[in-house]
Amino acid sequence: MKEFAVFWGCTIPARFPFIEKSVRVMFDDLGAQIHELPGHTCCPEGTLVKANDPDSFFTAAARNLAIVEKAGWDLVTPCNGCYSTFKECQSHLKTHWRERDTINDRLATEDLHYDGTLQVVHFAEWLSEHMGPGLIASKAKKPFWGMNIAVHYGCHLLRPQPAVKWDDPLHPTKVEAIVTALGATVVDYPTKMQCCGGYLDRVGEREGSLAFNRRKLYDLQNHQVDALITVCPSCFQQFDLNQAALQRANEPIHIPVLYLSELIGLAYGHSPDELGMDMHRVSVQPFLDKWEARSVEKSRLAQDFDVSLLNKCDTCRACKDDCPVCKVDPKFDPCDMIGQLVSGEIDEVLDDPNVWKCLECYTCLEMCHSDIGMAETFRKLKELAIVRGSRPDSIPQSYEMFMTTGTLGKPKEGARKKLGLGPLPPTGGDAVKKLMGCDAVIAACDSEGEE
Ligand code: SF4
Ligand code: SF4
Ligand code: SF4
Repeated sequence: MKEFAVFWGCTIPARFPFIEKSVRVMFDDLGAQIHELPGHTCCPEGTLVKANDPDSFFTAAARNLAIVEKAGWDLVTPCNGCYSTFKECQSHLKTHWRERDTINDRLATEDLHYDGTLQVVHFAEWLSEHMGPGLIASKAKKPFWGMNIAVHYGCHLLRPQPAVKWDDPLHPTKVEAIVTALGATVVDYPTKMQCCGGYLDRVGEREGSLAFNRRKLYDLQNHQVDALITVCPSCFQQFDLNQAALQRANEPIHIPVLYLSELIGLAYGHSPDELGMDMHRVSVQPFLDKWEARSVEKSRLAQDFDVSLLNKCDTCRACKDDCPVCKVDPKFDPCDMIGQLVSGEIDEVLDDPNVWKCLECYTCLEMCHSDIGMAETFRKLKELAIVRGSRPDSIPQSYEMFMTTGTLGKPKEGARKKLGLGPLPPTGGDAVKKLMGCDAVIAACDSEGEE
């Protein structure tokens, strides 16, 4: 499904044209061709129109769908509200055939007919089911490595389940899978499934609406979230526009809010300016600044490590229970240290004495289903820690001994003699010393230790 009709709804073009822009850019980047059909009206909005007149609600929704059916396409929408309206219409008119006939009699005057055969898909559903996280990730030029991102689904993407049968209505994961594929760390938070509450604004309950907003935003702030992802313009309005209202009232909140398509656009190399992100009411600059800094750290990490392997270990963590050091030392967690590296905390890891506890026993490599293991990572970390001057005192001492004598211990001649063992031949220490120009090496080693 790479060619379809698009239904923007009212809110996106009227209030958030930058969302429309990012969705267009995203479709383009993923090779999807959209068709825009004339004659559409509001989907219509479920709660307000349906409460007044269910007949108008179903007729207008069926008319919109009939326009798409006549053109022969399936339909994708970037709006939860439109998605919910169309799904409800399809589900309702499937069983209420008398009502469908009445509506079709009316539609006949416009030479339209509603069959209900077209597929209606939300853009997040299209990304998840028709593209897939793997393909979406494969096109990312600048992933969100080290960024903590939370997702708000919005009720009407998931419920009511008889009409909408996409993700789990209470424990959804599919948008998170896309965000994870883009390299971010997805943050779970207690109020994830709480409605945005934006509807209360429409019925004059401003304080109630802000209370919903406040509860979720503080929860996100407590979980140190760098950005919140939404897939619905109404939810975006609540968390961006109404958060700005809370900020003006001096509430100490700052959670940048991004549409999923904006996140994808950024990952694919489009600039925030091109995507119109300066039109957000809550500044996304802190998010962009941290992202930039993390990218610099990632380049630094990539100089010494295969970051894709580190990422695999970070998400896997399967061999931790097999590590012999973990069994006796609760302070040693190789997976946590790899997680820190992946989060950009390179210097912190290099300064951590736990780096030196890895025995390089290769148990993890033997147990690893992907043939990765962590011993080589720790060996490299030790090498970098020495350069940084962060190592146990025994390391330069032993190194100096080796470089000057060629051994790490002098033979115990007395004990050897008592056991009838003859003297050993001279060591090749002098040869090593000469070969390696070791006076200079030792001097360098000593000066690191003094820093
Ligand atoms: S659900 Fe909202 S955005 Fe979508 S068409 Fe209706 S009013 Fe417009
Ligand atoms: S190599 Fe290091 S991390 Fe791997 S099992 Fe041995 S001690 Fe643990
Ligand atoms: S070494 Fe292998 S088993 Fe261990 S965490 Fe990494 S990928 Fe998983």
